[in-house]
Amino acid sequence: MQTKGQINVQTENIFPVIKKFLYSEHDIFIRELVSNAVDATQKLKTLSSLGKVDNEIGDLTIDIKVDKENKTITVSDKGIGMTAEEVEKYINQIAFSGAEEFLKKFKSEDANIIGHFGLGFYSSFMVSTQVDILTKSYLNDSKAVKWSCTGTPDYEMSETDKAERGTDIVLHIADDCAEFLEESKIVTLLHKYCRFLPIPIRCGEESKWEKPEGEEKEVEIKQPRIINNINPLWKQSPADIQQEDYLKFYRELYPMSFEEPLFQIHLNVDYPFNLTGILYFPKVKNQMELQKNKVQLYCNQVFITDQLEGVIPEFMMLLHGVIDSPDIPLNVSRSYLQSDSNVKKISTHITKKVADKLEEMFKNDREDFEKKWDDLKVFIEYGSITDEKFYEKAKNFMLFKNVDGKYFTLEEYRTHIETLQKDKNDVLVHLYAHELDTQHVYIQAAKEKGYDVLLMDGFLDTHFINLIEPKMEKSRFARVDADIMDKLIEKDDIIPAKLSENEQKSLKEIFENHINKDKFTVEIANLSETELPILITQNEFMRRYKDMEKLSGQKSFYGNFEHFNLVINGNHPIASRLLDEKDEKKKDDLTHQLIDLALLSQNILIGEKLSDFIKRSVELL
Ligand code: ADP
Repeated sequence: MQTKGQINVQTENIFPVIKKFLYSEHDIFIRELVSNAVDATQKLKTLSSLGKVDNEIGDLTIDIKVDKENKTITVSDKGIGMTAEEVEKYINQIAFSGAEEFLKKFKSEDANIIGHFGLGFYSSFMVSTQVDILTKSYLNDSKAVKWSCTGTPDYEMSETDKAERGTDIVLHIADDCAEFLEESKIVTLLHKYCRFLPIPIRCGEESKWEKPEGEEKEVEIKQPRIINNINPLWKQSPADIQQEDYLKFYRELYPMSFEEPLFQIHLNVDYPFNLTGILYFPKVKNQMELQKNKVQLYCNQVFITDQLEGVIPEFMMLLHGVIDSPDIPLNVSRSYLQSDSNVKKISTHITKKVADKLEEMFKNDREDFEKKWDDLKVFIEYGSITDEKFYEKAKNFMLFKNVDGKYFTLEEYRTHIETLQKDKNDVLVHLYAHELDTQHVYIQAAKEKGYDVLLMDGFLDTHFINLIEPKMEKSRFARVDADIMDKLIEKDDIIPAKLSENEQKSLKEIFENHINKDKFTVEIANLSETELPILITQNEFMRRYKDMEKLSGQKSFYGNFEHFNLVINGNHPIASRLLDEKDEKKKDDLTHQLIDLALLSQNILIGEKLSDFIKRSVELL
């Protein structure tokens, strides 16, 4: 038998397109070839288990050989192989339906569809000048076939000698792709795409150092390098897995990560679609540590991508782990993935599963959930902000921590502060601080009135408060330094002023002469004598606005301009003393000293001003 023929592509020669436009993605040829080898091997296993294979199936390991001298890469499997008719049908004819579709799309759309548009077997031409297939079907008495093609629509096919069942795909690597003739490069690619494939894959050798019995020194032992773990944890039943196994698998996935994950969710869905996977919640406390693209997407254990933008909900991208679904189309671009209705369903479902699991943890072991909360918080907030459906579920188990380290749900907190923290308009004021140390003075002021203060120190907290505040009934959030306490929670009782209107005016002027009026507004307030003589506050909404700008990385509309209120307690004895002071120098020093104290309590007294303050304090002493 010797056949020559033309590969059946109606449109035009596909090869230049394959070479040129798949250039950036040409790594995937190895994934395509090994996947085909695995498929052929699994088919054989299935047929064998059905009693349809006469001989012993033997060792099924797939071999990848890199031959630098002859410039070839060979992928060999011991799967079902192909008869001449099958090569004709699957390689010469059918294989190009994908290619034709690709060509059509390529013409109608812009080039970004190229992405993951795999062409199966034909992707091997991205890196080869010639590809040979040597194959022998598992069927009794079948003859081995050699198919050969040099990247033109013409191919040759003939009978050949091949003793063993299975298929060898031989790639004659093009000169401009010589990098693939480095075994280390192929091993890297195999690790990326094939590390969890279900049939053992062997490539080259690796060294192991071992101490033989009775010997002192370790010796180098060469052994075949097996690339993959054929039974990855996500494919196993959760009932059979210990927590230690999850941690071990995490280390296998992220060998460079030193932190252990907080906990994991094992996904195992078989209706309405098939999905398995393990999602780990990493420990993260600030924005810098957040890493996207850590979740890996697999299709039947073949790595597809870790670029999951738009494929899974955004906040899930902060998680780590794997998702595997045969219902996710393999050979498509990401833009296609994003619009695929199956993918959308899967995404919604994962969100639901994760929320359910968190709720279950909250209900089953509140104490443990509280311990995890500080690390979990950023995910829950991010999820709530970006996904309304997630928020609807999360509000049931969302926690708030107060400055004393106690945790409450929003409902519980409402009950906790209801009696004292309602203002005269019946609005419940949730006080919060964003830092325990720098806001100590303000927190203390709240506590002296018997108020409770939440600790909102996460970098998403302002955003989050903006989200939940309008959803809450007759409630508002106020940071402890947003105003004086009596104004933050305004009650009906008014403390009378000790100073006359004129005195208040002069007091105000004294301070105004000592500060930058663009930055500060001076205000005289009538507080109780026991409260602080002076305080700096910052309007809640201005500050939130600035926080949001910072978070979004926008250039601020107000520039670096920050505005504060300098609130003087007119009822404090120092106020009268200052008014009565005749010695100008003393009056000056006292005013400066008061202002600096206030700046100090806001953590904004720095540099030369701080040195002046220390010097002046010593003099006054
Ligand atoms: P796909 O794998 O998406 O079907 P391919 O172009 O990769 O597309 O392969 C086309 C067909 O060729 C396969 O469906 C299979 O029937 C056959 N084939 C490819 N590689 C092998 C192999 N190693 N062993 C047996 N059959 C193969």
